Amino acid sequence: MIRDISRLIRPNIVNLVPYSSARDEYTGSAAVFLDANENPFNGPYNRYPDPYQAALKEKIGLLKNVDPRHLFIGNGSDEAIDILFRIFCTPGGDNVVSIDPTYGMYQVSADINDVALRKVSLTPSFGLDLPALTSACDEQTKMLFICSPNNPTSNSFAAEEILALAGQLDVMVVVDEAYIDFSTRESLKNRVADVPNLVVLQTFSKAWALAGIRLGIAIADPEVTRYMSMVKYPYNINMLTQQFALEALENKVQVQEWIALILEERGHLERRLNQFSFVEKVYPSDANFLLVQVSKPKKVYNYLVEKKIIVRDRSNIRLCDGSLRITVGTEAENLVLTDALTQYQHDFIDSCEL
Ligand SMILES: *Cc1c(COP(=O)(O)O)cnc(C)c1O
Repeated sequence: MIRDISRLIRPNIVNLVPYSSARDEYTGSAAVFLDANENPFNGPYNRYPDPYQAALKEKIGLLKNVDPRHLFIGNGSDEAIDILFRIFCTPGGDNVVSIDPTYGMYQVSADINDVALRKVSLTPSFGLDLPALTSACDEQTKMLFICSPNNPTSNSFAAEEILALAGQLDVMVVVDEAYIDFSTRESLKNRVADVPNLVVLQTFSKAWALAGIRLGIAIADPEVTRYMSMVKYPYNINMLTQQFALEALENKVQVQEWIALILEERGHLERRLNQFSFVEKVYPSDANFLLVQVSKPKKVYNYLVEKKIIVRDRSNIRLCDGSLRITVGTEAENLVLTDALTQYQHDFIDSCEL
């Protein structure tokens, strides 16, 4: 484990003088604000939003039981991913390691930032290959991305394994917990206080059903969140999102109900899918989607598209041969899906088996 995070930060970022806004230079309340060249009309939208997101951080801190100093708030977790690349990785030299298959944004962010991404295959049973992950890291490796529960394999990894990697490696271990609210496992969010090279990403796009307002968080050592805040656009979270989120975060009970419904539906859907003869495997899921291996995946996919039902074709992805990724919808939506698949089985499978 690294104790000195600044050793991993890019030298130009350590020395960065961040943008200083009018609201940085005067933070109190006042009757007349003539310091930011705002238009005096059309309140409250004429004002720049809080660049520190203080009220929202306070509220998310309470919700997640983490000190607000450990929080970075991003325009989706995709912003947090990009900013991590920009504070840790020098383009053209440094590299990062990720599991494979996994979420596609790590590769895109790596490519944009001209940072090599070294992919380490999961084991055939979707487990972490700890020796291979360790030996993929070298002096130029700045981050290791572990998505848990993992998209698209839908399983999660043991906290002990992830923490062992963080303890052993001189790199930032970034754990993407976008689906943690659907998982039986506990979040690692409360471990960042004693593991300085651990970053936990979470999002309000999935369990909280707020993908449209773009709100994601990184939970990390205060030194990491401080550098992230220096690099972000000053007003990265707009006023509408901040205000809406403050209200939406009151809906904790509603969110728990949604999660319970989705988990129940996930079970139903899994059982119904297993009854089709062209379904070879439904992988155990710790998320709000199912990875389903079928015979003739393209044919199934295209059949569903014709019925205006869109799932994700993952059949060409490593270890996911023949697999479709299906998000768990409402009871009615899942029935539309399984009815269409019943029709598919009737049209193409049962009628050919004579
Ligand atoms: C959906 C998803 C996200 C969410 O990204 P946002 O930018 O917060 O919407 C992050 N990570 C993974 C692995 C996802 O599948």
